[in-house]
Amino acid sequence: MPLALYAQTPPAQWGENVTGVTTKFHSEKKEIALTFDACGGSVRSSQYDEGLIEFLTTHRIPATLFINARWIDTNPEIFMQLSRNPLFEIANHGTAHKPLSTDGKSVYGIHGTSSAEEVVSEIQGNNQKIEKLTGKRPAFFRAGTAYYDEQAVAIAHTLGMEIGGFSILGDAGATFNPSKVAQQLMSAKSGDIVICHMNHPEGGTREGIIQGVEALIKEGFTFVRLSDVKKSLVKIP
Ligand SMILES: [Zn+2]
Repeated sequence: MPLALYAQTPPAQWGENVTGVTTKFHSEKKEIALTFDACGGSVRSSQYDEGLIEFLTTHRIPATLFINARWIDTNPEIFMQLSRNPLFEIANHGTAHKPLSTDGKSVYGIHGTSSAEEVVSEIQGNNQKIEKLTGKRPAFFRAGTAYYDEQAVAIAHTLGMEIGGFSILGDAGATFNPSKVAQQLMSAKSGDIVICHMNHPEGGTREGIIQGVEALIKEGFTFVRLSDVKKSLVKIP
């Protein structure tokens, strides 16, 4: 559908779980997808939780990393290291970290994109950056704040992107303490997608992930990247 047509009817939905967002995947095995956002934009949001990534690497835990263009600009060498680590899939967390709106809605006081054209540039700006640096175009997109309208999601689909939603709120923007993060992880069932952050080493995420992942491994769970389960994604109808 041409972009101009999206402006003719206002979007009907606004949120994290709108039509077309992937929130889970089908699996016969005990599998969970861990996803970690790197938001960037401020000194605080541009940090790197090296201990978290070391834990995942040491224990051979695959994960999908949703990285924003601003975070890449602040951490170019770390980004390249992460992109070369075969455990990790690099996914797109936006160019300017904006909620993905076709008509300028806001959430948490953050202005979203304001048109179909801006939706495209929020997605493609960082896709192009990542592809230029790594030679690989991301397959998944997650907007800053993880908010969308259903038309913005449809536009992402026309660009060949799946929207990386989630079914388990792992760290609530890195505000949960370690035991709450671990508790959230341990509530996961096969096919769940967990959202956490890799840019807040000062928070409870790392310690909670270590506790939670170790408990899940004892229960026989393994971990997948979103592209590993691309054929069995479950989307909001
Ligand atoms: Zn973010």
